[in-house]
Amino acid sequence: FITGKRKATEVAHAVWRSIVQKGDTVVDATCGNGNDTLALLKMVADERGQGRVYGMDIQDSAIESTSSFLKMAVEDYYQQDLVKLFPVCHSRMEEIVPKDASVRLVAFNLGYLPGGDKTLITVPKTTELALQAASRILSSGGLISVLVYIGHPGGRDELDVVESFASSLPIDTWASCKLQMVNRPVAPVLILLNKK
Ligand code: SAM
Repeated sequence: FITGKRKATEVAHAVWRSIVQKGDTVVDATCGNGNDTLALLKMVADERGQGRVYGMDIQDSAIESTSSFLKMAVEDYYQQDLVKLFPVCHSRMEEIVPKDASVRLVAFNLGYLPGGDKTLITVPKTTELALQAASRILSSGGLISVLVYIGHPGGRDELDVVESFASSLPIDTWASCKLQMVNRPVAPVLILLNKK
């Protein structure tokens, strides 16, 4: 997964690809500009119109940005329609994702919207609530992926909350791991939570 040239998001995508299959239902808990949403759509969309990406972001501007990015990047209208976008806090994901959905992946890419207001960031309290919600909706064999940026103010506090959540998960039902560049101390940290 790791070479010096790869961005943290590419490493995360490579991990997702090892878990997600065509036809799966996945959640993008932080749509931002839609790069992760598009990567997820490509992983789940199959020729029978199966596969769903439920995306959310607290900022209307991020939902608009994701929506127009997808319109530009995905020619097939039916594929665009596999993505459902909601301008809500990710702590409310259970209100969005259908109760009977078998969710294979919940992806978080924390921090601020690139190119947007850098003061509007994910915060520990709602991130923790969202992780709890994600752990409830995730199906067996699924993955919660959390990319945490530690270079901005508040980033390390958020990492503390994510790590504390990860270490609280029972070992008989969860495997938690952390991917961190040891020779780049402020590089983003990838936390992976696999539900057995
Ligand atoms: N995944 C995005 C992409 O591929 O472009 C990048 C996400 S960006 C690093 C983090 C996003 O989290 C921002 O767009 C921000 O608005 C959003 N965010 C902040 N707090 C949130 C919350 N409570 N619920 C959902 N999204 C939130």
